[in-house]
Amino acid sequence: MIKFLHFGVIIIIITIFLGACSSNNKITENKTKPKYIFYFIGDGMGMAQAQIANEYVKNTLNDSLAFMYLPNQGNITTHYNGGLITCSAASGTALASGEKTSFNTIGMNTNHTDSLTSLAEAFFQEKMKIGIVASVTIDHATPAVFYANQKKRSQYYRIGKQLSLSGFHYFAGAGYENPNPVSPEDSAATVGNLYEWDKKSGYTILRTKTELESLKDTALKVHMADSLMLKYCIDKPTDALTLADFVKKGIEHLDNPHGFFMMVEGSKIDHACHEHDAKTAINEVIEFNTAFKVALDFYNQHPEETLIIVLADHETGGMSLGFDKLGYNTNLSALKHQSISRELLEEKINNWIKNNSSENSILDSVQYFAGLNSDSTLIIDNTDKKRLHEAYIASVAQKKGNGSTEAVNYGNYEPLSLTAITILCEKAGIGWTTFHHTGVAVPIRTIGVGSELVASATDNAEVARKLFTLMGIKNPNR
Ligand SMILES: [Zn+2]
Repeated sequence: MIKFLHFGVIIIIITIFLGACSSNNKITENKTKPKYIFYFIGDGMGMAQAQIANEYVKNTLNDSLAFMYLPNQGNITTHYNGGLITCSAASGTALASGEKTSFNTIGMNTNHTDSLTSLAEAFFQEKMKIGIVASVTIDHATPAVFYANQKKRSQYYRIGKQLSLSGFHYFAGAGYENPNPVSPEDSAATVGNLYEWDKKSGYTILRTKTELESLKDTALKVHMADSLMLKYCIDKPTDALTLADFVKKGIEHLDNPHGFFMMVEGSKIDHACHEHDAKTAINEVIEFNTAFKVALDFYNQHPEETLIIVLADHETGGMSLGFDKLGYNTNLSALKHQSISRELLEEKINNWIKNNSSENSILDSVQYFAGLNSDSTLIIDNTDKKRLHEAYIASVAQKKGNGSTEAVNYGNYEPLSLTAITILCEKAGIGWTTFHHTGVAVPIRTIGVGSELVASATDNAEVARKLFTLMGIKNPNR
């Protein structure tokens, strides 16, 4: 009997002790939980994209990119369920939900039998305010994975329909890719024009810089749709809205006692790298860094409550610092002479050809805009001249590839603009291996509350899973 009594007392003491421990743990957990989370995703921003942009900024602007120097850094793998080289949809889904999925899938599991819950949706349930910011259309893969669940990333109308259903407080991007139904599948489930649908669902649509600047009522649910965002930074008017403007207004709009989560995508770093346009990609990385600095200022005001994560969904283009022709040399400042994007150069070339301009005058203009011949390191030789001539012939014949040799030489891009930009990259010492994505791991950089835990992830899906843990939320996808 006495033995039993002793045993009972011991059990009670152990229970009290464990109870005290677990409540202590809870207190510690709450203390280490960020109130404000910024999730910066540089689409296609591998190590080379970030480092080359930083070196370029150091060389030409006597500055540097702040996100490069965050205190916690690591690398994450990006493979998807099906292979090593992912797309933004599958990688975004992993970053948003903690689960790997199939190619092109938005927020669903591999076989499309279940929808996944994103971090943004889970935090919304915890009363945090949510912002989704991108420099492309808001139904594009990376922003979409935070609020939508669709079998294919190309189902833009169906993705867009889910935006207002999320109830998130702040969307800012380039509007909808397909605001109206385009396929019979869309028409069968139509809710009409998506901007009208947003309004009916209680959203305020903003279109211009003035409208965004005059936004004061923080109770409003907002969809900022600025089609100018679609342009590359290098081609935009200087007074156009920037990603940094979106983040600045986002902070003002979302700040509240329950905290906020803001996903910010530098969307077009990827686009520029698909077309091997290093200068344009660098300008996009600089814009991404400027937006990051807005968040960093906020962190400096709230260091005990803020977490900033900067990472990428995958690498694009197989970009490298080093090109065989230059051996051990680089000449990044050569890029400063390129004044417009390859995309805009293509538009100009098509017009010149349509207006029957001579080959000589077209090649002169192309070299001017691409920055070739503009200093002694950029003089084009006979081999370059031959390549430009052949590309000109291919451009006039409107050869873009379709499986022919041109597809290998020019990807699926307009040959002359691509060749001019490629020659410039070679003279700068920048190499490319593919017109697609690559499967190399990408950097993750963090600062703030929970920073070490998140940066210790070694895979993209693990980042989101660590965030669920950090926030003390049971993983809704496990
Ligand atoms: Zn891409």
